[in-house]
Parts: sequence; structure tokens; C-alpha cells
Amino acid sequence: MKSIKKILVANRGEIALRVMRTAKEMGISTVAVFSEADRNAVHVRFADEAVCIGPAPSNQSYLLGDKIIEVCKELNVDAIHPGYGFLSENAGFAKLCEDAGVIFIGPTPHAISVMGDKLSAKHAVKDFEVPQVPGGDGEVKDIAAGKELAKEIGFPVLIKASAGGGGKGMRVVEKVEDFEEQMALAVSEATSAFGNGAVFVEKYITNPRHIEIQIMADSHGNVCHLFERDCSVQRRHQKVVEEAPSAVLTPEKREAMGKAAIEVARSVDYTGAGTVEFIYTEDHQFYFLEMNTRLQVEHPVTEMVSGIDLVREQIRVAEGHELSFKQEDLKINGHSMEVRVYAENPWENFSPDIGTLDVYSRPLGPGVRVDDGFEQGMEVPIYYDPMISKLVTHGENREEAMDRMIRAIDEYRVLGVETTLPFGKYVMQHEAFRSGNFSTNFVNVHFDAEKLSAVKNDELEMAAIFASKLLQDDADKDRFNNKVNEPSNWKRNRTL
Ligand code: ADP
Repeated sequence: MKSIKKILVANRGEIALRVMRTAKEMGISTVAVFSEADRNAVHVRFADEAVCIGPAPSNQSYLLGDKIIEVCKELNVDAIHPGYGFLSENAGFAKLCEDAGVIFIGPTPHAISVMGDKLSAKHAVKDFEVPQVPGGDGEVKDIAAGKELAKEIGFPVLIKASAGGGGKGMRVVEKVEDFEEQMALAVSEATSAFGNGAVFVEKYITNPRHIEIQIMADSHGNVCHLFERDCSVQRRHQKVVEEAPSAVLTPEKREAMGKAAIEVARSVDYTGAGTVEFIYTEDHQFYFLEMNTRLQVEHPVTEMVSGIDLVREQIRVAEGHELSFKQEDLKINGHSMEVRVYAENPWENFSPDIGTLDVYSRPLGPGVRVDDGFEQGMEVPIYYDPMISKLVTHGENREEAMDRMIRAIDEYRVLGVETTLPFGKYVMQHEAFRSGNFSTNFVNVHFDAEKLSAVKNDELEMAAIFASKLLQDDADKDRFNNKVNEPSNWKRNRTL
């Protein structure tokens, strides 16, 4: 058992801040690392100590494992929290920490590397009770064999990169004639994006839901699940709206998926927080997709309904403690929604919209949580993920969580960049979402950018208010400048 007194957070933005907040609550001091682009970032000011580790591009700063370890040695850091992205799923970095005697707050390098590759993950869970997507579980090297397999599975099929992530390296093939072309594209995409061209073929599930299970494991053999998150609303295979619990799971299905997720964790002797992702079919089957061996972006919705601080639990497990709860202690309290607020233009197919946050004012009030790393006047840098914040609500039930989300979105003021907030409102008001009857195709089937214009008008009005505020500020400045030339009251008082 080792008590952690100082944590370095090898990350930036909202997640760095999120982790540091819990550390502070636990009386643990915090170290931020930052790139030159983040000199004035909120996480840097929040930390007890901060060290600049290089220029803006992540491969010259946030991805420099060796340099981060050096900082740990210099500042007597006990443990590193990697957040998500960057080095969080890098087995080599976890090993580097281990060798340097710094605790890596996460699973072992072995668990990370097995689960980091979709084919090795499929292989690892083979002997456990984990349902898998129908299809091949080996690399498809030549086109003829791939075609045969695809015919056996039945079209449509999905060609997937084994090293894939973030929705990249995936190709849907509707018919046999397209197989050759799509496979070549998938291999070249995988090679250039991940440096690994291995692909495999599985059944493409039409109209599925993405349902994932949060698990937590300690080093004493205890593994619990903290229920599910439904992340079916996605654009470009990437999540934008998440909720807990899912609107479609029965208690029996929830238990079955929870059990399967625990089996996945056991297959690699998992420790810490992890997420087991499943695809959920229209006829209520579920299949293992992959395991993310880190804290997930959407973890707050689980925290809202379970009352468990996942970061606190991660730190305790890293210290060698047993989990602070047992499976039977856990229950779902109410409902939680999350909208990822990206600096993206939903009118332009969600293309990044980088710029300055001229106006930035967060919603407040009952049942609202905002995890962010920005303040008014700051720039959304081009170098990193364009997520500004995560807007999270909690309600007694799903309807209350949705209505609260609409209220919070209306209260959120962001000017200077386009955001996914109007899209979030669209989703919360949409009949398909409200009824719970939707799939990962929500955006393709139900989203109509034209219908966002009403929200846009509100924004134009805000822009006008902002412009008049600027004029007012200028007028105030002029008045102030004139005053300095006049004798001030203070001076006058003194001469009196
Ligand atoms: P990544 O590592 O890129 O996130 P995943 O395997 O987790 O890849 O899949 C990302 C998303 O792609 C899923 O959430 C789901 O929407 C879709 N997807 C993945 N596999 C399938 C499948 N077999 N059939 C249909 N959709 C799929």
C-alpha cells in the first residue's frame, strides 16, 4: 500500500482540471505539464506546480513520455494520471512509469496492449463468456479470402482496422462487388493513421445502439460494474450525446451485460477504471466491441447516477486499496445526460470551428454540471481536440434530465465559435430521442441542419447584444480616458 501525495496529470483541458479537483479534495498536491500553447490554460493555473514541456504540437509536448517522467523525478511525483487520449492507452508509457518507480494510474502495460488492439482483444476474451460480433477473429490478408468470409457472414459487412480508434479505419461494404475497393481503402487508411494495416471483417449491424459498461477493478481481485452508458448519438462514428442509464435496457439485460463486461476485465486481470463497449442490436442481442483502458470522456454521467467519484476510486486502487463498494451497494439514482460541446459547425457537417471565445458563460442551477477548461477570452487552439466542455445534467428521470439539458443549453452563452450546443438541443427535442427509439444512425436519419436555424437566430441576437456591449465598453473607455486628464476627486480631496 503506497500513499500518493503528489500527482502529475499528463493531460490538458477539462480532463486535467477534472482529475486535479478530486486530487485536491483528497489532499494530494498536483503538477500540471503544459505546452507553449497552453501557458495560460486553466489547468496550469489550478495546479500547485506547473512545468512547460515543449511547443504546441502534441508530439513535441503532451506525448513526450520521457520528458514527463523527468519532471516526475525532479518534482518528487508519486503518480501519473494520464486522463484520456495522449499517453493514456500507451502501454510503453505505462511500462516507462513502472520502470521509473512512478505509479501509473491505470491498468498494467499488458492489459493496455492486449485491449489496445481489436484482434488481440477478441482473442483474449475468447475463452470467457463474452458474446462477439459474428465474423472473423483473425487478420484478413488477402482479398479473395476476405471476400469468401464476407459472403459467409452475409452482407453488409464492416472492414475494421485492428489498431483502429476514434471511428477511423472502418469501411461498410454493402455488396460483394465493392469488397475489393473498400478493403484496399481500409488497409491504406489503417496504415497511414495507425502504422498498422491489419484489418478484419465482421457483420455490419444495422440500426444498432452503442451501449458501454463502466467497470472498476482493484488489485485484490474485486471487479464491479457501474451500469451502462448509451452513446448511440454519434457523428462520424464518434459520440456527441451520452446518457445513463440507457432507455432500452431491462434490469436482466443490464445484469447480463454487466457480467460480460466483468468477464472482459478478468480476461486481462484488469485494474482501475475501464469501459467495455458493446454494440446492441434491434433484437436485443449485445456483442463485445472493444475495451477502453482509461477514464472515458463521458464518465460524468455514470458519476451522476452512481454517486461514485471515479477518479477518487482510480487513485485509491492505484494506492493498493480495495474498491470502496461492493456490487450489491451500487444502484442507479435517476438519469443523467451529457452533451459534448465541440467547437464545430453543425451546419457545415460538424467541421471544426476554431477561434476565440468572445463570450463564454456557463449555465448554473439544479442538476447541472459543466466540465471544461476554458474561460471567456481564451482561444480554442487548433492543435488539440476541439472540445470546449461537457454539459451534464441530472434529473429524477429521463424526461427531467432532457428538459434540464434544454434549459441549460439555452442558458449557455458561447460566442466566437460555432458549437454543437444547438445540435444538442435539437436532439433533446427530437421525438425519436425523447421516445428512446433511436440508433447510431440518428444523425443520418433524423438530423436536418435546416431545422437548426431557429437556434441560430437566437445566436445572431446574442451577437448583436455582444456587439452593442463592445460599443458600450469603448464608450466607457473613452469616458475613462477623458477623466484621467481631468483632476480626479482624489486629487481634489487632497488639495482641499
Ligand atoms: P473505435 O475504436 O474507432 O471507436 P469501435 O469498434 O469502438 O471503433 O466502433 C466505433 C463505432 O462504430 C461504434 O460505436 C458503432 O457506432 C460503430 N460500429 C462498430 N462496429 C460496428 C458493427 N459491427 N456494426 C455496426 N456499427 C459498428
